[in-house]
Amino acid sequence: MYFSSVREPWDEATKKTVRCTKTPVGRRLVVGVDSCPDISRRPAEASGKCPLDHSTFTMMRPMMTNPDVVSFQSLGGIRGLAEMGRFKAWFLDQFGVLHDGKNPYPGAISTLENLAKTGAKMVIISNSSRRASVTLEKMRNLGFDPSLFAGTITSGELTHQYLQRRDDAWFAALGTSCIHMTWSDRGAVSLEGLGLQVVDDVTKADFILAHGTEALGRPNDAVLPMKFEDLEKILEQCAAKGIPMVVANPDYVTVEARALRVMPGTLASKYEKLGGEVKWMGKPGKIIYDAAIKLADADPLHCIAVGDSLHHDIKGANAAGISSAFVACGIHSTELGLGSFAEVPDASRVRELAYRCDAFPSYVLPAFTW
Ligand SMILES: [Mg+2]
Repeated sequence: MYFSSVREPWDEATKKTVRCTKTPVGRRLVVGVDSCPDISRRPAEASGKCPLDHSTFTMMRPMMTNPDVVSFQSLGGIRGLAEMGRFKAWFLDQFGVLHDGKNPYPGAISTLENLAKTGAKMVIISNSSRRASVTLEKMRNLGFDPSLFAGTITSGELTHQYLQRRDDAWFAALGTSCIHMTWSDRGAVSLEGLGLQVVDDVTKADFILAHGTEALGRPNDAVLPMKFEDLEKILEQCAAKGIPMVVANPDYVTVEARALRVMPGTLASKYEKLGGEVKWMGKPGKIIYDAAIKLADADPLHCIAVGDSLHHDIKGANAAGISSAFVACGIHSTELGLGSFAEVPDASRVRELAYRCDAFPSYVLPAFTW
């Protein structure tokens, strides 16, 4: 059977229920979604035609019965996808895909150059808490050519813009005094131009701004290096006061030279567990994909996100209704039992992991190579 459905898809045009015979086995219809056979493309709120012309819209969700229903295409590199020409806009994660924070991954630079030659627009989409210009400069220092990219959207850039513009009701009501959790060894994040007052006394704070996990910002622009456990204690005071948090990097951990570093998303997750309200300014939130789609001026049907985090990159692409390619050699490499760069992952292990993470890639790559 093709559907184990709780609701048949409804074709608004014909006012009839429809069934796409190419819909993969094991998908459950929830509300009007896409019955496209490319099962990872699960638009959250979309309508229209399947990009492969299989049927009209329906909304689907995978049956959570076992990992065997998870389906994707395994590729050795991106060349076939790129030359197919379907994807006009490529949203590229940086850490774990293009570089490890210290060095470019083997083949990443030439792969970008080859992709650019196909005419694809490339946008860096990153949960970095840094501004877009800082990220692009870092890319240049690592040996990447910034002119290859149509633009850069970072979590830090989005946060900066929303805090500066205040044209969103939630941000307009936020207040200006903040507890600032930031970096020390990696370099503090500048709040210049935002009109914020950094305080280190929770009783005077309107909200928490989380850019990093190494230090507490001081009122005099200095930072006080602090252990993660001590930042957690400050969160407990903030939760008791009931102030919201803006997290300018929703990652839980990141890969640096094959070591994992705790990121601000871990603070945000802890804060939610304490009952605090969190504004997540990056992947997997739709907010950052909408910004990237706007920047690339592309139809979501022609966009693909490439990333190494099932929780952020792939889940975010699923929620945004765009295709995705999962790079196995990044943050999940240990879970997948991968010992060396570009080692081909075992498909059944990827299926199990994707199933556990509730994140469904369209394609799986050993690494971001041509
Ligand atoms: Mg990554």
